[in-house]
Amino acid sequence: IYVLGIETSCDETAAAVVKNGKEILSNIVASQMESHKRFGGVVPEIASRHHVEQITLVIEEAMNKAGVSFSQLHAIAVTQGPGLVGALLIGVNAAKALSFAYNIPLVGVHHIAGHIYANRLVTEMKFPLLSLVVSGGHTELVYMKEHGKFQVIGETRDDAAGEAYDKVARALNLPYPGGPHIDRLAHEGKVTIDLPRTWLEEGSYDFSFSGLKSAVLNTLHNAKQRGEEIDAKDMAASFQASVIDVLVTKTIQAAKEYHVRQVLLAGGVAANRGLRAELQKQMAKLDNVELVIPPLSLCTDNAAMIAAAGTVLFAQGKRVDMALNADPSLDLE
Ligand code: ATP
Ligand code: MG
Ligand code: FE
Repeated sequence: IYVLGIETSCDETAAAVVKNGKEILSNIVASQMESHKRFGGVVPEIASRHHVEQITLVIEEAMNKAGVSFSQLHAIAVTQGPGLVGALLIGVNAAKALSFAYNIPLVGVHHIAGHIYANRLVTEMKFPLLSLVVSGGHTELVYMKEHGKFQVIGETRDDAAGEAYDKVARALNLPYPGGPHIDRLAHEGKVTIDLPRTWLEEGSYDFSFSGLKSAVLNTLHNAKQRGEEIDAKDMAASFQASVIDVLVTKTIQAAKEYHVRQVLLAGGVAANRGLRAELQKQMAKLDNVELVIPPLSLCTDNAAMIAAAGTVLFAQGKRVDMALNADPSLDLE
């Protein structure tokens, strides 16, 4: 089964062809990072314009590289939401046009389902499983009993993990996106600054990172007022330690409570070296639970993950018609 995936929810224009939901034949990502960098974040208007310019080229390149013709495709899978509405629309309309022109079935995919299914490009998924989704806009623990069924057992009540990384990075005068810079600095620094860990109510799998973010900003501000210098490396290390402590502790707790067979890491923050190492270390103490961590290129936004999720939905008979619309706040469940 050949599926073309299309992803335009944020600032990457991406297309990929995946065979049998597992084998990547091509995975093209045109990043707009450079255009958004000077604004310190993604500018929706600019994102849409880039998608319009890139979408046809990126799809063409994905098809050429895969060596697959449109008549050979079994389905087109496209990110329907969540994301920036103007950005999503470009992908959705491209997918609809191709589906109509070549009479290919169309499948709508939730962006976070895509992040989770990046793991299926690495290994077979074993249910029940738990996925820790950590990205620019999401921090969630998702429980899955079977393919295509998602139960969000915990989510952030304020900032997403990636968002907190980017805001703290900004306060430390690091370029956007700041996650990778903090990660790098954290490995050079020491955990010397006392920062809070927000556990919320006993037994809750929800997250909250705004208190931590504020604590970092206040500490930096107060030091400045006193004319003191705070070492950016130590601040990065201390911040990262707090984020990882909460993420890993709650994930392990949930993995035990739900008796899962696998824990999958997903989303852009899954690229974090500290998080990967700590999760590996703590998971090694659990018997009979496998940890899966996709390679960096499949953690950040791409279309192979959308094709992988779309293939499973397609096999389950899920289709959408020409009425398909972008949904900026699409619900995973
Ligand atoms: P969403 O998937 O929720 O819609 P998004 O697609 O913008 O959001 P991703 O592309 O999955 O998010 O991830 C981007 C985020 O990952 C950014 O916030 C970035 O700072 C963060 N990130 C990337 N690499 C690292 C790293 N090594 N450490 C920490 N954060 C990182
Ligand atoms: Mg992105
Ligand atoms: Fe994403």
